[in-house]
Amino acid sequence: MTNTKQNNNNSEKERLDFIRQIVAEDLKTNKWDGRVVTRFPPEPNGYLHIGHAKSICLNFGIAAEFAGQCHLRFDDTNPTKEEQEYIDSIIEDVHWLGWDWEGHLYYGSDYFEQMYEYAVQLIKKGKAYVCDLTAEQTREYRGTLTKPGKDSPYRNRSVEENLNLFERMKAGEFPDGSRTLRAKIDMSAPNLNMRDPVMYRILHAAHPRTSDKWCIYPMYDWAHGLEDSIERITHSICTLEFENHRPLYDWFLEKLDAYHPQQIEFARLNLTYTVMSKRKLLKLVQEGHVAGWADPRMPTICGLRRRGYSPQAIREFCRRIGVNKFNSTVDIALLEHCLREDLNKTSPRVMAVLKPLKVVIDNYPEGQVEELEAINNPEDPNAGVRKVPFSGELYIERDDFMEEPPKKFYRLAPGREVRLRYAYFVTCTDVIKDENGEVVELHCTYDPATRGGDAPDGRKVKSTLHWVSAGHALEAQVRLYDHLFTKENPDDAVEGEDFKSNLNPNSLEILASCRVEPSLAGAAPGSRYQFERLGYFCVDPDSSDSKLVFNRTVSLRDPWAKIQKAQKKK
Ligand code: ATP
Ligand code: MG
Repeated sequence: MTNTKQNNNNSEKERLDFIRQIVAEDLKTNKWDGRVVTRFPPEPNGYLHIGHAKSICLNFGIAAEFAGQCHLRFDDTNPTKEEQEYIDSIIEDVHWLGWDWEGHLYYGSDYFEQMYEYAVQLIKKGKAYVCDLTAEQTREYRGTLTKPGKDSPYRNRSVEENLNLFERMKAGEFPDGSRTLRAKIDMSAPNLNMRDPVMYRILHAAHPRTSDKWCIYPMYDWAHGLEDSIERITHSICTLEFENHRPLYDWFLEKLDAYHPQQIEFARLNLTYTVMSKRKLLKLVQEGHVAGWADPRMPTICGLRRRGYSPQAIREFCRRIGVNKFNSTVDIALLEHCLREDLNKTSPRVMAVLKPLKVVIDNYPEGQVEELEAINNPEDPNAGVRKVPFSGELYIERDDFMEEPPKKFYRLAPGREVRLRYAYFVTCTDVIKDENGEVVELHCTYDPATRGGDAPDGRKVKSTLHWVSAGHALEAQVRLYDHLFTKENPDDAVEGEDFKSNLNPNSLEILASCRVEPSLAGAAPGSRYQFERLGYFCVDPDSSDSKLVFNRTVSLRDPWAKIQKAQKKK
């Protein structure tokens, strides 16, 4: 092998994360006959969140990069918590992220019959038994990390008796919780998962897909490996907490002499200021702390979508964080940085005023309206220009004026000249206040020679403000969002309280009477814009022709870029 080739191989190895390295190596050695088959196996008991996106991008990404396939499989083995609503949303969200399972959509429940057959095989091999211990007794017999377990008194039932009882369990002869089918492994195994784990429980509950056909349901560890095996998955990728379930995964498939995928674990995504457990997210929804799963403050895919996130931003974030074996928490600033990078390239610029302050241009010809040219996106040469109406009555941002400006405030103040973007230089000549002393209107003069925003005499101004024409602007409601929690780690609560005590009471601020430029008339829900100088905003589904509603997706200030700059300097 030549040196260059070696170098190439090395750099390829460096580029690949440890899972992709395994897949590449397996292809080289032809371990799976050249196949790469992964799966994303959500339990349909909630909506997908940004953590799931990491797993989705990993599984579908590997399939795409190695010319394999990725299955979308619903791990629907627990009928009491699963719903069609969740199934539909998961399908929508995976598609929205830009992935496709190419017809490989499966349900664990489709394999119930096969799983049952496999269980019968294990019984016949003397590797499984029907146990009559109650749930509480089973727990007691199990022992602890420091104390070995005790054999169940039912452990040595004959194969015939086990077959008979198991069949009757299936036939519905016994009440819920009265019996289980357990694997016969080792009650003193150091790994608690190997202490005769339960494979089936009795549960007289209708299943969304199999209805009343079954009253015994497989446990996760039993079902999951079989699902992988039946679908002939090659690489079964899961999160770290399943590392010590792997011996059991392997044990079942070995004892059955079944097709046996390789389970590989990676670290789950944790994000600052965010909870990711479906149980906790469900609580937030049920207790009304948020307006449903798709609330723009939620870390769910549908929440992020409504907030204005693009699939590209989420995918880029997943690429940047990579995969590894160590649990850590990612700074949410990185997610927002990826979002800004994408939106900066793709969002048309418009002018909008969130907290309007009226400005009257005293020397502007009465009744005149000009159409001034504005650049749609300086980052995109193909985005072109548009016309924005300018008139003698405008709105500017209330925060862009101060009657008594401190030293570093360069925006508008009495007697001061500033630029109105794409328009003219204006100078503030008068301040009108109401009876409470609050500023309600400014009077200015404009310099007609500065049309377009430059002075022919070369004079400079220190700031440029955005604005809208009062008579042309559209009213809009704007919803400003902040992190849902006040603490980096929401689970870090004072004693006696839980994560909900760290909810941010100011995570939503609604501005009811904003003004946006008229080009936004009829903007479709989901469309994204940069409001100049303010941030990125997305049209909410609540928006209509009569009432525009925007969500602030993210502000312009990018703390992550700052952190990176500082690191480069070091
Ligand atoms: P929860 O514990 O919140 O109920 P889960 O992991 O049980 O979540 P599943 O529906 O079983 O939810 O997850 C489907 C897949 O997504 C699994 O393979 C799981 O490992 C993966 N996944 C879930 N959460 C994360 C996360 N935070 N980071 C990476 N992958 C995740
Ligand atoms: Mg799970």
